[in-house]
Amino acid sequence: MGLFRCDVHGINPIVALCEHAAAQLDRGALDETESIDMIEACAECSQALRASSSPPDESTDLPHHARCSMCFDLARVRRARAFGEADPFFVYERTLWPIDGDELDELRGLLLRSFTFPVSAMSDTQQPACWVVAGSYAWPTTITVYGIVDTATQDALAALVRSFFAGRTRNQAKVVFVEAMVVDAWRSADGKSHGRSHRRERERVLRVETLA
Ligand SMILES: [Zn+2]
Ligand SMILES: [Zn+2]
Repeated sequence: MGLFRCDVHGINPIVALCEHAAAQLDRGALDETESIDMIEACAECSQALRASSSPPDESTDLPHHARCSMCFDLARVRRARAFGEADPFFVYERTLWPIDGDELDELRGLLLRSFTFPVSAMSDTQQPACWVVAGSYAWPTTITVYGIVDTATQDALAALVRSFFAGRTRNQAKVVFVEAMVVDAWRSADGKSHGRSHRRERERVLRVETLA
């Protein structure tokens, strides 16, 4: 997935739009779109795509334009609200975004200085297994920590995160405590490493602490 550098939100995953939807988004008035083959298409383009005889498993050659996924999400929310409809997803109005890198780094630094984490099994660079990931309109800032299994230490970590956000307006966040990192290492018969893949679906979440 590509990334889009947005002046408002920072570096975000891209959303692919048909040229009409992209133009509408740029003008700040997005009509409803339909997601076809990973492209958000306007009504005319989605109708034309459905009418075309190409087999459904063949990807479309509809020309598309990349935009910031957060700008797209915001436009969807604004459109729904302008028409008095329900929000398309639960909207996090007050959370840190990718553009708030300094604050996110500050929080991670605070956690690394205050607690001991196991080393991440995903990299060879001895990174502690503690991640602070920026929020978006659809999810809050998420702090994922591995290997902190006793309740008292979890309480202390959650309290530190809470104190970090105290007094800040953009304070929606959650802390996810995971028992241990599950990674598959791929090695050939001669023992050479062929990289690793993270298996989140096999990890045990011990606790999720929601702030604000
Ligand atoms: Zn279109
Ligand atoms: Zn944006």
